[in-house]
Amino acid sequence: MDKNQWSIETMAVQGEYWPENAKARVMPIEMSTTFRYNTCEELASVFDLEQDTPMYTRLANPTTDVFEKKMALMEGGVGALATSSGMAAVTLAVMNVCKQGDSILASNTIYGGSYTVFTTTFKDMGIEAIMFDPDIPEDEILALAKPNTKLIYGETLGNPLANVLDFDKFKSVADKLGIPFFVDNTFATPYLCRSFEFGANVVIHSTSKYLDGHAVALGGVVVDGGNFNWDNGKFPQMVEPDESYHGLSYSKNFGKAAFITKARVQLMRNFGMTPSPFNTWLTNLGCESLHVRMQRHCENALKIAQFLENSDMCAWVEYPGLKSSKYYELGQKYLPKGQSGVMTFGVKGGRDASRKFINALKMVALVTHVADTRTCVLQPASTTHRQLSDEELIKCGISPDMIRLSVGIENADDIIADFKQAFEKCK
Ligand SMILES: *Cc1c(COP(=O)(O)O)cnc(C)c1O
Repeated sequence: MDKNQWSIETMAVQGEYWPENAKARVMPIEMSTTFRYNTCEELASVFDLEQDTPMYTRLANPTTDVFEKKMALMEGGVGALATSSGMAAVTLAVMNVCKQGDSILASNTIYGGSYTVFTTTFKDMGIEAIMFDPDIPEDEILALAKPNTKLIYGETLGNPLANVLDFDKFKSVADKLGIPFFVDNTFATPYLCRSFEFGANVVIHSTSKYLDGHAVALGGVVVDGGNFNWDNGKFPQMVEPDESYHGLSYSKNFGKAAFITKARVQLMRNFGMTPSPFNTWLTNLGCESLHVRMQRHCENALKIAQFLENSDMCAWVEYPGLKSSKYYELGQKYLPKGQSGVMTFGVKGGRDASRKFINALKMVALVTHVADTRTCVLQPASTTHRQLSDEELIKCGISPDMIRLSVGIENADDIIADFKQAFEKCK
C-alpha cells in the first residue's frame, strides 16, 4: 500500500523510516555535523543542489530528514523543514516570502511570541504586521490589505484562547489577494486537523508542544503544501534567479517544492536555526504516540470543561468542545475528532482568586508550557503575554483573571479532585 494512503495513525508510527537488512529497527541518531564524500566532483554537485544528500547538519541531517518526511506525510505536504524552535519556524516561514517594504495580515489572537516578533522585530526590519480580530467578516479583512501584503496568517486553535480558525474565510481572502495562507497548526496537530485539506498553503508547528508531547525537546517545523502558484508576479524571490546559487530559480527548478527548498537552502543556510538531531529524534519518538495521546487529551479536556462549566466556583470557561462556546460549530467543522486539551477559564473573584487557585494546586503544575502529557496551568496576563500593554491584552481577548489550562493524559478524576481542593481554598 502506498504510504500516502495510510491512515494518520500508521503514518505517525511507521513514517518515514524503514531499516536496511540487519540494521537498527528504531531510527538511529546520526549525531554528526558533517558527511564524507569520495570525490570533489560529487560534493560540488551537492553544493549545486544537483544531488540531494546531506553534507553539513546546518542544512540537512539523516535523523532530522526522517522526522521532516514524517511531518510532510502526516500533514499531506510536499516537504518540511525542521527548526530549532517554534519561533524559528514562524520567523523563517514569514521571512521566506517577505522582505523590507512588505506587509502581512495576521490574526491578533495568535501566540504572544508570534505577536511580538511580528509587531516589533519584523517592524524594525521594515515588514509591517497588520493585526486583525480573526472573527471580523471577510470584506473587513480584505479592506485592511495593501498592495504589498504578502501573506495571511492564523492559528488553527489560537494560543491561549483556543478560538477556532475559520479556514474557509481565510482561504477566500488569500485567494482574492493572490497571497499564501499560513497556518500555525501547533495545538491541533495533523491528527486533529490536516490544514492543507482546508486550503492552507504553509503549515507551521511548534513541535515543543503535542508533537514532542512530553515537554523534553524544543523544536519547530515548517511544512509546504506545494499548492500555491508563486509565479503570479508578487513573489519575485521565488521565481527570479538566486545569485547565491549561480542564478537558480526556485519555482522553475523545484516546482511544487519551491517554497520549502528556498527555506532550507537559502534561509536555513544563512540563519542556521537548525535543530539538534537528538531533538528531532526525541520529537519523532513522541510523534509515534501522537494519535493515542491526542485522543486522551481531547477526552479528558471535555470532561474537565464540563466539570468547570458546572462548578459554582468557576466564573467562566471557554473550550470549543462545549456547546456553549461560540467556536463550537467551527470546532465541529474543522476539528471533528476533538478540540485539543487547551482551554481557558476564570475563578470567581477575579485576578486574585485565579492566582490563589493556581497557588493551591497540588498535582497540576504551574509552568510556562502547554500541550504535554502532564496537566498544567498558567496566568497569561502575568507571564506569556506580559510584554503586551493592557490595551493590547484586551484586544487579544485576554482577561486579567484568565487561567490557561492544558489538560494532560492523567486520569480525569484525579485532575478534577485537585481542582476541587484548590477551589475550596479560594472560598
Ligand atoms: C509555543 C508556540 C510557538 C513558539 O514555539 P517555541 O517552540 O516555544 O519557540 C509558536 N506558536 C504556537 C501556537 C505556540 O504554542
